[in-house]
Amino acid sequence: MKKVVKFGGSSLASAQQFMKVGNIIHADEDRRFVVPSAPGKRFDKDTKVTDMLYACYALAEKDHDFTKEFSQIEERYQEIIDGLKLDLDLTPEFNQIIDNFKKKAGADYAASRGEYLNGIIMACYLGFEFVDPADAIRFNEAGVFDAELTNKLLGKRLEGIEQAVIPGFYGAMADGMVKTFSRGGSDITGSIVAKAIQADVYENWTDVSGFLIADPRIIKNPKGIDMITYGELRELSYMGAGVLHEDAIFPVRKEGIPINIRNTNSPEDEGTWIVGNTCQKSKYTITGIAGKKGFASINIEKDMMNAEVGFGRKVLQVFEDYNISFEHMPSGIDTLSVMVHQSEFVDKEQKILSGINRAVSPDHVDIQSDLALIAVVGRSMKSQRGTAGRIFAALAHANINVRMIDQGSSEQNIIIGVDNEDFETAIKAIYDIFVETRL
Ligand code: ASP
Repeated sequence: MKKVVKFGGSSLASAQQFMKVGNIIHADEDRRFVVPSAPGKRFDKDTKVTDMLYACYALAEKDHDFTKEFSQIEERYQEIIDGLKLDLDLTPEFNQIIDNFKKKAGADYAASRGEYLNGIIMACYLGFEFVDPADAIRFNEAGVFDAELTNKLLGKRLEGIEQAVIPGFYGAMADGMVKTFSRGGSDITGSIVAKAIQADVYENWTDVSGFLIADPRIIKNPKGIDMITYGELRELSYMGAGVLHEDAIFPVRKEGIPINIRNTNSPEDEGTWIVGNTCQKSKYTITGIAGKKGFASINIEKDMMNAEVGFGRKVLQVFEDYNISFEHMPSGIDTLSVMVHQSEFVDKEQKILSGINRAVSPDHVDIQSDLALIAVVGRSMKSQRGTAGRIFAALAHANINVRMIDQGSSEQNIIIGVDNEDFETAIKAIYDIFVETRL
């Protein structure tokens, strides 16, 4: 068996955390490929090393002195090295980085050093080989991740290696220029490595015991999710459920490699399994609830709209022309609504309205703002009667006016639009009916 194990920043924030990680890795000899993040926060008000690096490089870019800021970064690493009693001197690495900062090596290079240095420490601590992803994770000239080439290069680079540490978050372009993924991107590296070595499992170790059915800021002590499919997770992460980087699903999803989200601070918990498919029913009818505030709906009315071929296309063309992507498009016979992120739409509002007028000459257009969307997701919904009925009964009971309803064609999600101010109450009502009272 081959397992890829990725550890997040809070799992590697101090020597003490490194020791927990060491124990986890040594507890299972299949844990052979390790992807570390940069040291994260040790306590609530602490600063992540990645943020320290960005701030430090911002000074370097303006030719300001960054000695003090950089030495704070050095201290973070030295504290870990000393705590682990390692015979490792990172001075040459630090000097090289300072030099490259002065030469303006780029913000991506700067940020990537967090993972790079942590990877060197981790490799030394575990006695594993250090593999620099700059040699094998490739971005094209436009800075876009090249999945195919990476899979080839990385597969080759890791061939025959028994145990390796591959820092997360970055790779490089063909000319060697370092590029990072978006924030939280070490999750993506873990997934890419799992695909390249055809791992049996991708374990993603963080500071929570997996996914929760609902946001703990809204529901007190929500129940955890034992198993979730990639499809369900995609719906939930898109709607704001955190824990795993959204793009981390794709490389392993195609290969059918399961992801297991685990808690470094509570390694005995099974966490959440993310799988391609399963015949295991979820404990509750729904797998999870997530949502976001801040949407606007542009409602267009025109008599005989149903008979006008191309109406929808013309409307959407206007949104495309202004580079606005739409979230949902519920329609009636003579009405069509386009739901968009309010923050993206607001500055272009008048231009888009006149564009719609020119394109389709509607009878009436109005805008509803400050809407929230809630996704109720669950693979078991398809085969059960009355799920929608229960959701809407619960919402009616909680005195919530439903502004929009959309059931995805996969029948594994129902999206509900409510006023921003009803968002939390709506989530509580839905959680309550499916999980607490389990009617
Ligand atoms: N260190 C990076 C960040 O803070 C990447 C990661 O941790 O996944 O975003």
